[in-house]
Amino acid sequence: METLPCQGCKGLCCGPVPVTEMELKKIKKKIKSMPSKMRSDLENQTRYYGTCIFYDLEKDRCGIHSVRPDICRKFGYYKELVCFRKPELATKNLDQTSSESHVGILSMDFTWKDFK
Ligand code: SF4
Ligand code: SF4
Repeated sequence: METLPCQGCKGLCCGPVPVTEMELKKIKKKIKSMPSKMRSDLENQTRYYGTCIFYDLEKDRCGIHSVRPDICRKFGYYKELVCFRKPELATKNLDQTSSESHVGILSMDFTWKDFK
C-alpha cells in the first residue's frame, strides 16, 4: 500500500480522536508498560493546542503507534478522512455499521491522568 508523506507534518492531522473501550484498554496497557522516563518525556512535551496528547513531537511520529485507535489507522485512506497532502490515497468508503461504539474523545474526555 502506498504510504502517506507524514514525515515533517509534526502531527498536523493528529487532533482529538474518538476511541472505543477496547482501544482505551490497549493504550492504557501500552502507557503502563513504557519505561517511566520515556512516559514522562512523552507526557511533558509542549504541543500545540489541539494536538493529540500522545503525539511525539521530538520523534515526529505517534507516541503510541502500535496501539493507535482505528480512526488513526484509517486516516488518509478513506474518502471521509482525506489527507490534504495526498488526497489521491483516500479511495475507500467507511463502513459505519461495523464500527464499535466510541466511549469518548482522546485528548478531551481522556487525558494523561486517565492512563496512569
Ligand atoms: S496523514 Fe497527511 S496531514 Fe496527516 S501527518 Fe500524514 S501527511 Fe501529514
Ligand atoms: S493516537 Fe497517535 S496517530 Fe492517533 S491522533 Fe494521537 S498521535 Fe495521532
